Amino acid sequence: MDNGSRPFDRARYPILKRRVGVHGGRPLIYLDSAATALVSQPVIDAQVRFLQTSCANIHRGAHQLAEEATDAFERTREQLATFFGVVEPERVVLTHGATESLNLAARGWAEGSLCEGDLIVIAADNHHSNIVPWQMLAERKGLSVAWIPLTEEGLLDEDAWARLLVRAPKLVALCQQSNVLGFRQPSLARIAAEAREAGAVVVMDGAQSAGHEPVDFEELGVDFYAMSAHKMGGLTGVGALLCSSRVMEDLRPVYGGGGMAARVDASGWRAAPGPEAFEAGTPPIAAAVAWSAAIDQLKAAGLEAVAAHTRALAERARAGLSALPGVSVLGHRVPRPFESLVSFTVGEVHPHDVGQALDAAGVMVRAGHHCARPVHQACGARASVRASFAGYSTEEEVEALVSAVAQLSAAVRA
Ligand code: PMP
Repeated sequence: MDNGSRPFDRARYPILKRRVGVHGGRPLIYLDSAATALVSQPVIDAQVRFLQTSCANIHRGAHQLAEEATDAFERTREQLATFFGVVEPERVVLTHGATESLNLAARGWAEGSLCEGDLIVIAADNHHSNIVPWQMLAERKGLSVAWIPLTEEGLLDEDAWARLLVRAPKLVALCQQSNVLGFRQPSLARIAAEAREAGAVVVMDGAQSAGHEPVDFEELGVDFYAMSAHKMGGLTGVGALLCSSRVMEDLRPVYGGGGMAARVDASGWRAAPGPEAFEAGTPPIAAAVAWSAAIDQLKAAGLEAVAAHTRALAERARAGLSALPGVSVLGHRVPRPFESLVSFTVGEVHPHDVGQALDAAGVMVRAGHHCARPVHQACGARASVRASFAGYSTEEEVEALVSAVAQLSAAVRA
């Protein structure tokens, strides 16, 4: 904890010193960490250090720099395995982000393992990246798709799930933490366990929960778990797909090219053993190396402390915003804590206009459907404004948000 009792020391984030707005008159109030978290100096330094000392391609060269680069890249894989409790580091596939991870699960595993007529079940609180790959797959292979709908409050509909379970789904796509609804789904663990018991492969999108709360992959009991480094304090362009042993066996390469083949000749090719088979071409090496520093930072702060901090801020924002006339917080009737974000609407004002008004007041939030249209439909909103928090966010920033929204809502009602 820094002396402001935040898990991440704000002094380590050079961008937080920036002034924004007309003539740089305002401090930066960044409440968009769910889209991309800010990057600290140690993470920037890790990337720079790698580029200054060991910049080379991995796996291919026999010289010192190539070896150093390979070691640094592989250290990140090992660190991810330890951090997320994956027993064998070979079951951590490095990708370009959660989106690619989920598409790899669809193309690399489900494409070859599911058959025409098989049922895929998708939870309606998913981001489009854990929806569209399954819809595309269903189109290609003639699969059926069914949804676990959300209740008006935003809860996964457990009765609907019970009806789907008896139809023996082959794959169930779940989201560990919605990027729109602030609370954790109370039935998530049960749904995942029941799905697996019934023989389904469970694909979990961890983009908003990896690095936000302790996650033990083997205990979680899912088959695929997807994440992006840039939502955990790392850089854009790198992510991972964690795989269970049973799906890893049947995972097939999606991209062909350098690094992924053990043998290539006129008669054909054979995949390399291990995760390299799914990492064709040159990966984002420097970003992967920097990810390691972001994980060190999370470990030093303690995930419990990070989660408690963002929860306190999200709950404060939820309470402050819900009390404002005309402001409606998505999912706010659910009596569960909001973990790290709050989505809301302000009367009939279009969320983009709210976003612009808040930006003019120096508060940076996200506005739109956040690539999660089904969850908005379920909550009866076309779009929303989202404020999201990280280990460096402050109570003062939450107050600035609430007071800017209060002024806007008063102006709209005047
Ligand atoms: N899932 C969720 C829940 C997300 O919030 C996001 C990012 N908005 C993604 C998946 C996709 O992540 P990326 O764009 O880094 O691939």
